[in-house]
Amino acid sequence: MSRPTRVAIFGAGPSGLFLADSLLKAHPGPLSIDIIDRLPAPYGLVRYGVAPDHPKIKSVINTFAKTFADERVRFLGNVAYGVDLTLEDVQRHYDVGAYAVGAAVDRALGIPGEDLRGNFSSTEFVAWYSGHPDQHGRTISLDAEAVSVIGVGNVAIDVTRILAKHVDELRTTDVPEHVLDALAVSRVRDIYLIGRRGPAQAKFTTPELRELGEIPNADVIVDPKQLELDEASAKVVAAKSALQRNIDVLRDFAARNPEGRARRIHLVFLASPVEIKGTDRVREIVLERNRLDERENVVGTGAYDNIAVEMVFRAVGYRGIPIPGLPFDARAHVVRNESGRIVDENGARLAGQYVAGWIKRGPTGVIGTNKADASETAKAILEDLPSLPPAPEGTEAAVDALLQSRGVRVCLWEDWLAIDRYERELGQQAGREERVKVTDFGALLAGNK
Ligand code: NAP
Repeated sequence: MSRPTRVAIFGAGPSGLFLADSLLKAHPGPLSIDIIDRLPAPYGLVRYGVAPDHPKIKSVINTFAKTFADERVRFLGNVAYGVDLTLEDVQRHYDVGAYAVGAAVDRALGIPGEDLRGNFSSTEFVAWYSGHPDQHGRTISLDAEAVSVIGVGNVAIDVTRILAKHVDELRTTDVPEHVLDALAVSRVRDIYLIGRRGPAQAKFTTPELRELGEIPNADVIVDPKQLELDEASAKVVAAKSALQRNIDVLRDFAARNPEGRARRIHLVFLASPVEIKGTDRVREIVLERNRLDERENVVGTGAYDNIAVEMVFRAVGYRGIPIPGLPFDARAHVVRNESGRIVDENGARLAGQYVAGWIKRGPTGVIGTNKADASETAKAILEDLPSLPPAPEGTEAAVDALLQSRGVRVCLWEDWLAIDRYERELGQQAGREERVKVTDFGALLAGNK
């Protein structure tokens, strides 16, 4: 081929950027990668999902920025796959199309009362406190003394921490001003963190669990009886040091005496929400007490507890949604693929099309997990490249002309750098240590800041 290999990567989050990085390192010849995102801002879940009080994890952005600095890479922000570009366009303009768009929606509990006012998904709550444009203009009033967070994964811990911390602890972060205002008048006092299985089956990781016990504004309350493990759980814990560490931290929590702090985090295990009650809004959550079978699966006992709460935050995992034109596994909620190669239900490959990250393997793992995942996809791409048909219009100019003809206002890397500077200035003006994120990109791009 006389021109560089053209690659489109949809999704400028961790998995898309790790994929770009792997290709840049391993591709032997001339290469030209467009990293395309529906938002004008890059970094996906690092900017909009990693908790604002976890700046160390967020600092991976400095590494990702180096990928964009490579002259073989362009950022095309504000370009939505399925709206501004179709699969046909991708096949026409790129030798390789790769989709790293994450798992866009949250799972539901599927219980009565889930639509009552006062119910929130972690997707919306996290997006709200992270200043995601999808939640622009959203008001969430924390006008409840008791709330429950459903699920015991790291997202549930993030949500709990944001609810439990004193607002002043968050003022040094990039939490938007209107969210700080809402947190400052929060009435939350009791936070019930509810796991349907036992402490040995909880999905959170030890550092995140430990952090709950380090919040100056909150007591953590654990009933020691809940830490008595059945035989199956004791075996699992004995075999896995990470689980033993979790149990040790929980035992430390259980041994503490509450110090009368402003907020209380109650950890509740072996309890499944079966109904959310209320008329005008959430008033109560009904939990069925569980036991575990020998395979660590939940078995309801038929005994119920009611807890008076006025808000419910469900953090029970995410799921991918179908991507126009690509074969989808509706059971696993991922794009059908074999080691990153997109295939149909008969296993036939969709030539030149690949996936990486949560839309490839499901919503599990930490940011770093996406590195190995992306390098597997990169390996598949590099193996296949020699036999892939070249795209008929595989130049930057051709796709730029197409987007222009469709009236798409593409945000290039320089545009993002201008937004980045602007956000930092806003932060300075507000006397904040961090940036203030733009949440209304529509107004910004229209020149109406
Ligand atoms: P997760 O780790 O899969 O946890 C989901 C939790 O929801 C589990 O406790 C699960 O219980 C529970 N659950 C699922 N369906 C339920 C139902 N119907 N009723 C009650 N509980 C239910 O998912 P996540 O917290 O969304 O996290 C996604 C990934 O991002 C994870 O790999 C996580 O580690 C990562 N993450 C990492 C960090 C960090 O490193 N700081 C921060 C945030 C997220 P079962 O186990 O019984 O299914």
